[in-house]
Amino acid sequence: MSIKQQDANTGEERVSDPDLESLLVIIIDTNPSQRAIRRNPHQLTQSLDSIVAFGNAHLMQKSNNKLAVIACHHHATQFLYPNPGKPLTEIRQVDGQYEAFTIVEKTVKHKLAQMITSAPKISAPCESLLAGSMSMALCYIARMNRNKLPGEKAHARILVVTGSNECAAQYMTYMNVFFTAQKQNVVIDVCALDKSLSLLQQGCDITGGQYLRLPQLDGLLQYLLWVFLPDPDTRSKLVLPPAVKVDYRAACFCHRELIDIGYVCSVCLSIFCKFSPICTTCHTVFKNPNPIAPKQKKKKLKG
Ligand SMILES: [Zn+2]
Ligand SMILES: [Zn+2]
Repeated sequence: MSIKQQDANTGEERVSDPDLESLLVIIIDTNPSQRAIRRNPHQLTQSLDSIVAFGNAHLMQKSNNKLAVIACHHHATQFLYPNPGKPLTEIRQVDGQYEAFTIVEKTVKHKLAQMITSAPKISAPCESLLAGSMSMALCYIARMNRNKLPGEKAHARILVVTGSNECAAQYMTYMNVFFTAQKQNVVIDVCALDKSLSLLQQGCDITGGQYLRLPQLDGLLQYLLWVFLPDPDTRSKLVLPPAVKVDYRAACFCHRELIDIGYVCSVCLSIFCKFSPICTTCHTVFKNPNPIAPKQKKKKLKG
């Protein structure tokens, strides 16, 4: 809520917003194919406890801070909090705990348990639908902003916590998400629990977010509170892990693999690792390139 005050000197009405609303959307990768979960199934519970505590810490910072939690599974993406249906009726207040924190914790755990038990069994490791979850988070942020009164604004950011491998098959969706987020001033933070993720790192770089690859899983909550709890404006005043060099390679549209040099369609900007006479995206027909010409020049120079 912005506070309208009358300036004593000029009599003008000025709007000050000392406590701008901050919306944090946390995306938790709950895919059982993640290496850490396959090694130790209790890892998911431990990580979840840390993430819930982190979400509550965000709510604790300001009374008008908002939180949303999305689970990203191998078959679907679902809101864990706020619960889209009726609020859970069986939640009882825990003595000594603030009621709102109890609601977050119980709702997240209840919804996640529902989602995991209803998930189809998988025989081989499969990819997480991270790009889809991020699109869902962006839609949610857009909806929350649309419901605001004119002039009211909120800072929104997305935190992705994942131990999955990156999959270049979602390259297009990732790029659409990153540039939409950039346009909407949504900061994307990524906490990589296992391998380094070059595509998501690009997203952090594009939107001005923080990327962190955890050296070990034990101190997850400490890392979250240290690096991701401060809002992006405050971060410049803190000593945070230095930015790593971003790998800006793109994935080719034909094999979905990251490439250094490739062919780009001059009409639709699709990327290919090999020359193809017809662009598979926009069906533009190209002439064959003539690779013999430069070789002849070299021969002439030698002679
Ligand atoms: Zn290719
Ligand atoms: Zn094309």
